[in-house]
Amino acid sequence: MNESVINKKIALVTGASRGIGAAIAIEMAREGFLVIGTATTTKGSEVITKMFKLNKVEGIGLPMDVNSNQSISHLINKINLDHGEISVLVNNAGITRDTLLMRMKEEDWDSVINTNLKSVYKLSQAVIKDMMKKRYGRIINISSVVGHMGNAGQTNYAATKAGISGFTKSLAQEIGSRGITVNCVAPGFIDTDMTKALSEDQRQQLLGHIPLGRLGTPTDVANAVCYLASDLAGYVTGETIHVNGGMLMI
Ligand code: NAP
Repeated sequence: MNESVINKKIALVTGASRGIGAAIAIEMAREGFLVIGTATTTKGSEVITKMFKLNKVEGIGLPMDVNSNQSISHLINKINLDHGEISVLVNNAGITRDTLLMRMKEEDWDSVINTNLKSVYKLSQAVIKDMMKKRYGRIINISSVVGHMGNAGQTNYAATKAGISGFTKSLAQEIGSRGITVNCVAPGFIDTDMTKALSEDQRQQLLGHIPLGRLGTPTDVANAVCYLASDLAGYVTGETIHVNGGMLMI
């Protein structure tokens, strides 16, 4: 490990291989964190390592499947051994399995609940012990505008995102006295693989409801995450920052 890396705070960003997670990983590394970004495959994790190198920032890609307890504990042990304790956890990994409730199979429900919500419980539990000892930590959960307004065809997904919001406020109350903040960033519609499935018609209709007149970029979301991870946000906890171009004003 080189000297400059030793004093850096370690940030773990799940689902950093593409989209919002990739932007969060790069922007946090630019802010001076040593970022560990994850993908579900070794090949994906190698792409993340290359992405850091290309951007000339400190970071490493590692594989991790949030649905595997073994994979999570292997990742956390490896980070602790190779680099030290995690100071910032960004729970970003997520999937959609959209369909009307009438047609939703139990496996579509379970996979979205497990990947998007149960993972937040598992990863947070895996890092808070060290954070409590250090009396410092930041947990940032990526929720969604649809967790606040609902969306037809996304009962499973919206339930996970609303669940993350309740989880965040509850955990923030449990561990605030130990110097750990827990917050959400709730993106609106962001231009990533997840929203590629929208038809041109759906896209145009959507734009009509967004005062800023465009989909968001992954960097728009990453900027809010960087703020919450920074010293500037030391007195902010249990909160949600909405990054949605004004499509929902709460
Ligand atoms: P994306 O482009 O589809 O990327 C999803 C990321 O999650 C990938 O890195 C993927 O890894 C990882 N992932 C998927 N299943 C996983 C698993 N079982 N274990 C670990 N990692 C897993 O998604 P995105 O649009 O950037 O969304 C990122 C987050 O923002 C999600 O939580 C999403 O719900 C939320 N969000 C997105 C939007 C939007 O409009 N895009 C809006 C609101 C909220 P692999 O590459 O290895 O598959």
